[in-house]
Amino acid sequence: MKKCENCGKQFDWKTTFTSLWRNYTPIACSECGTLHKITPLGRLTFVSMTMFPAVLFGSSFSDNPQYALILAGACFIVLIGSMLAPFAVRYRKAL
Ligand SMILES: [Zn+2]
Repeated sequence: MKKCENCGKQFDWKTTFTSLWRNYTPIACSECGTLHKITPLGRLTFVSMTMFPAVLFGSSFSDNPQYALILAGACFIVLIGSMLAPFAVRYRKAL
């Protein structure tokens, strides 16, 4: 999990998770208020952990007529990916 670059306070999972789903809103440190923005690589990480595997999963079952099942599977992948993403994405102190 990411730490504040100013005071070293660790961001909690929920804060990072919410930021990712709210179009990468900057995270304010709960201790000192320093704003942190996601890096371009962080965005890429988030997309590659959620949308990319879901699309890959969907396309690998494109001959399968059970669309509801595929859709459910893809949603599940996005959910799991986005729950793990807060551990992987990078944030930088906003200037
Ligand atoms: Zn701080």
